Amino acid sequence: MVNISHNMDRFKAGVFDLLSLSMGSQPSIQLWYEELKKLLITEFEIEFVQYFYVKNDQLYSYEKYQPECLAEGKALLKNLENKPFSRAGKKSGKLIEDEDIFIPCTENDVLVGFVSIRPKKNSELFQDEQFTAELAAHLRVLYQNVMKMISTTKERKRYHELFEVTEAFNSIMDVNEVLSRIIESLRKTFPEFTFTLLLSDDHDETKDLPIEYLDYQTTNPTILQAFVTSELLIDESTSIATLYAPLKGKQGVYGLLQAKAAKSGAFSESDQEFIKILSFTAGNALENAKLYEQSQRLIEDLQLINDVSHELNSNLNLSNMMAYLVKQISKAFSPTAIGFILIKGKERTILNGSSPFFTSPESELYIELARDQFKNGAESLYIAELSSKISRETAYQSLMAVPMIHNDQLKGFCIVLHEQPYFFTFEMYKLLQSIVHHSSLAVANSLLREELQEMINKDHLTDLFARSYLDQYIEKSMLDHDTGVFILIDIDDFKKVNDTYGHQIGDAVIIQLADELKKASQSIGFGARWGGEELALYFPNIKTDEALKVVETLLKLVPNRTNPPITISCGAAEWQGQNGDTLIHLVKRADDALYAAKNNGKNQLIFQSNPSVEVN
Ligand code: GH3
Ligand code: MG
Ligand code: MG
Repeated sequence: MVNISHNMDRFKAGVFDLLSLSMGSQPSIQLWYEELKKLLITEFEIEFVQYFYVKNDQLYSYEKYQPECLAEGKALLKNLENKPFSRAGKKSGKLIEDEDIFIPCTENDVLVGFVSIRPKKNSELFQDEQFTAELAAHLRVLYQNVMKMISTTKERKRYHELFEVTEAFNSIMDVNEVLSRIIESLRKTFPEFTFTLLLSDDHDETKDLPIEYLDYQTTNPTILQAFVTSELLIDESTSIATLYAPLKGKQGVYGLLQAKAAKSGAFSESDQEFIKILSFTAGNALENAKLYEQSQRLIEDLQLINDVSHELNSNLNLSNMMAYLVKQISKAFSPTAIGFILIKGKERTILNGSSPFFTSPESELYIELARDQFKNGAESLYIAELSSKISRETAYQSLMAVPMIHNDQLKGFCIVLHEQPYFFTFEMYKLLQSIVHHSSLAVANSLLREELQEMINKDHLTDLFARSYLDQYIEKSMLDHDTGVFILIDIDDFKKVNDTYGHQIGDAVIIQLADELKKASQSIGFGARWGGEELALYFPNIKTDEALKVVETLLKLVPNRTNPPITISCGAAEWQGQNGDTLIHLVKRADDALYAAKNNGKNQLIFQSNPSVEVN
């Protein structure tokens, strides 16, 4: 006969050992179950122990991981409710026999499973109701304590994780890194749930992160409510459960953290609490990182604007200025086409430095679009998707255009294009505005300067270059080039033309002659008005024979191309190499040659070669 109270004492001691063992290491159901089995079989007349647990309304055998038929399982559970234990009796199922005794396991008064013990054949021990009840009571307490320990350990681990993540957030200044830490931490803590970040602003593609765009047009009321109230909400309207926790900072809500579980009721209070704290911390970290990135960008933008202003105010000429602007804009926005378009009345000019695209007919569409806007006083133009604005097919989808305004007048505008829609952000648009506004004054000044220079360099009547410009040019040419031919041209008997037809007709004839000079010298040299009815031609880096041939042709052509017809006398001179020859000497030789031509009967060319003796 077994001394039952002795065995019960040993069992209790074993339970105590098991509890302290659980406290010291990682407590788990498995440990509890294995130790319990050993204890029960050693101390009492038990042949076999099993543990069943409830999951998704199914009864599972812990050992076999096999669901017990639901109908039978349900009946078994029903029979156990509010009882210290129950006997299988005739309710036996697949893994259960008639003599089995079930001892319920509860968590917060909810039945979560039971331990089934099978007494040895002929054992009378378990006939004793009082003994069985006592054993059941001990087992129940043991189960609850182990469970509490398991959940405490789990909680401790979670809070340790939370602590680590929070600490990491303090030093992470990169938005993507914050997001990836949130996900990493959640996946570690809740491997059974699926997480997605629903973010409220567009976000760069991020490696492997489950990020979705938060759609405000969504019909999901839980998403909307969670976002608007910024509270944690759970949607259990379908067979699964979805939790939404706001990612909230001090200045706003940045999105929602979405967790999906396979069944409803899956998010325990403590799960929710953990996710809530994490999402709150994450919201703040996200905000900090965003603010940091924003301020970094702002600093860079200011630096760029500062550099641009500084550079443009350092007296660059127009083409260097354009080259600089195009370089900076390319760097800042990576567009596929940049154009600077000048407006002067109905005329417009594409400034050098603009992308070649702006000289093609296809660019017309974009230029007109911008021009129409600015004509009506619009400040700037920002189009993220051109195809949504116009019905025509277009090569470029993203467009930014900013007018250059000086003294309240539209001087022109800058257009920046890209093929992809939504390529430029709104921040980029603001930055482009700043750059163009800051450069407008410098561009206008430099334009004015170039216009003035042209006015000085050009002769009004003939639109040929002025003598002063030709002088400068030849002096420079004598340094830069190897050779040059200079020709002085004087209209024969011009006095008579004036006397016969009047001064106005005389002017018209000078213009006709000037036009012939332009044609004859095109791309090989240029013409200038030397003074009065005297004009000049200059050909740098040319074989003298070639230049003289051009003049001979001109000489023959002029009487046919002028009305009233005139003839001209020409005196030509050349310079060669760096032999100390000067502009004054060159002009003197040409003048001598012209004098000789006049004396020789006019309507002819005389060439004065370059005798080195002349140079002293
Ligand atoms: P020559 O064959 O010797 O050159 O005879 P010429 O009559 O051309 O020479 P001259 O130097 O005696 O006269 C030049 C005339 O050209 C005098 C001047 O009235 C005229 N003239 C100079 N500049 C202009 C101008 O801009 N417009 C007009 N219509 N006449 C001009
Ligand atoms: Mg003359
Ligand atoms: Mg003359």
